[in-house]
Amino acid sequence: MSSLFPALTDAPGPRPALRFGDRALTYAELAAAAGAVGARVRDQERVAVWATPALETAVAVVGALLAGVSVVPLNPRSGGTELGHILADSAPSLVLAAPGDELPGVLAGSRRVDVDVRERGPVPAEDGRAGDEDPALIVYTSGTTGPPKGAVIPRRAVAHTLDALADAWAWTAGDVLVHGLPLFHVHGLVLGTLGPLRRGGSVRHLGRFTTEGVARELSDGATMLFGVPTMYHRIAEALPDSPELAGALAGARLLVSGSAALPVHDHERIAAATGRRVIERYGMTETLMNTSVRADGEARAGTVGPPLPGVGLRLVEEDGTPLTAYDGESVGEIQVRGPNLFTRYLNRPDATAAAFTGDGWFRTGDMAVRDPDGSVRIVGRKATDLIKSGGYKIGAGEIENALLEHPGVREAAVTGEPDADLGERIVAWIVPADPAAPPGTEELAGHVAGRLAPHKRPRVVRLLDALPRNEMGKIMKRALPQGDPAAEGGR
Ligand code: ATP
Ligand code: MG
Repeated sequence: MSSLFPALTDAPGPRPALRFGDRALTYAELAAAAGAVGARVRDQERVAVWATPALETAVAVVGALLAGVSVVPLNPRSGGTELGHILADSAPSLVLAAPGDELPGVLAGSRRVDVDVRERGPVPAEDGRAGDEDPALIVYTSGTTGPPKGAVIPRRAVAHTLDALADAWAWTAGDVLVHGLPLFHVHGLVLGTLGPLRRGGSVRHLGRFTTEGVARELSDGATMLFGVPTMYHRIAEALPDSPELAGALAGARLLVSGSAALPVHDHERIAAATGRRVIERYGMTETLMNTSVRADGEARAGTVGPPLPGVGLRLVEEDGTPLTAYDGESVGEIQVRGPNLFTRYLNRPDATAAAFTGDGWFRTGDMAVRDPDGSVRIVGRKATDLIKSGGYKIGAGEIENALLEHPGVREAAVTGEPDADLGERIVAWIVPADPAAPPGTEELAGHVAGRLAPHKRPRVVRLLDALPRNEMGKIMKRALPQGDPAAEGGR
C-alpha cells in the first residue's frame, strides 16, 4: 500500500516532527532515523517496541511501519506476568529499545536491537511489502474488564482513523500537538504520535504530564492538547491558582479528552476558567476513534459527539434490535462497523467470534443513548456500569458525575451489588476531599436524589484512600475491594 506517512517518504524537509523534552527530530532526521530502523527490521514479520515515553519509541514504531513490519508496543510498567503473557501470545522476533534502557528478566531471551535516533538509513518509498489488510500494530487492550487481549490492527484502520481525525479537526502541517500520554496504547501512540505525522504536523511529548508543561508548551506554539480525564482533572484543580495555565488553554485550538468518561464537573470548571470546552471523543483499541465533534463550540459536557465520517455506529437493544430513534433516552449497546475496525484478537478465535455479529458489527460492550442531534452519550460499560436496581437500569456514570459535584467528594466510582429487595443496590466508592470529615451516606444519598432521581441514590457508601486506576487513569472496577459489611450504610 502507499505510505502511511507521505510527509516522511516524500521529500521530508527541515520542519519539526517530534520533540521529547530537549531532544527533537525534523522530518528529514526522522525519515533517516526511521530508515535506519527499517533496515534492521525489514526481514522480520513482527517486532516488539519497549514503549517508554521517549523519542526512540516513536522512531522505532515509525521505522518498523515504514518497512512494512508490524509492531507490538510493550508497556514498560507492566509486571513480569503480564509482559510474559504478551510476549508468549504475540511472539515478536526481536525487541526495539532505547540504548541504556534496562529490560526486565522476562525479556532476557528476546533479541534486542537498540534504536539510535542519529543513525541514518534510506526510507523506502512504499511501506515495504505490506498490504492494506496486513497488521500494522498489535495493541493489547487496557485490561479494564479482564486480562488484556491483543487487538490486531490493520494498516487500513490506522490510515482511515488518522485521516478521519485530521479531517474532523482540520489538522494542517502547522499544527503542534502536546501530550503526556503513554505510547503503548492507541490513544498516545496512534492518535497522539502517528496522527500529526500523517499530516506533516508535529508532536511535543511532555515525558511526564504536568500542568506546568501544558502551560509552557501551549504558550510556546503548541496548538492542540490531548489528555485523559485524570489529566483534565489536574488541570481543573490547578486553574484557580494559575492564570498562565488559563491563558495558555484559552489560546489553544483544540483540547481533546478520551480513553474514559470526562467528569461533567471538570468539563464545566475548565470551561468557566478558560472559555474553552474540552472536546470529548470516544474510541477503543479495537475500533480506534469512533466519535467526536469538530470544534469546541459544538462540545457539550457528558457527550462524545456523533460518529466520524465513514464510521458506522448503531445502538442495539438486548434482544439484538437496533434502536431507530434518537430520543436521548433509550439505552443500547454501541456497535461499530467500518474501515476503522481491527481484524481479530490474536490467538483468541473464541473472543473474536463473540465480539462480532453475523454481519460484521463489533460489539463494543459500551452502553449509550443518542440525542436528537445524533450525539452519543455514553452511559457506561455493560459489564460494570449498568446497575439493575428496583426494576430500573441505571448507569453508574451519571451517579458518579453527581457525586463529584459534592464538595466533600474528591473521587467517586459507583457499582452495583446483589440485594435481596432491589436485585442490585447502588454502592458509592468515595475518596473524600477531607479524610477527617467524609460526607455520610445520608448526605450523599440526598445529594444524588436531589439531582437525579430518588431511585438513583446510593444505598451504601464506602470510603477509600484512592481508587484503583491504570496508567490511563481508568477506574479498574474489578479491582475494588470486596464489600466490607461492617462499613455498609455506616460511615
Ligand atoms: P479491556 O477491553 O481490556 O477491558 P479497555 O476496554 O479499558 O480494556 P481500551 O480499548 O483501552 O481498553 O479502552 C476502550 C474503552 O474505554 C471503551 O470501550 C470505553 O469503555 C472507554 N472509553 C473510551 N473513551 C471513552 C469516553 N470518552 N467516555 C467513556 N468511556 C470511554
Ligand atoms: Mg475493551
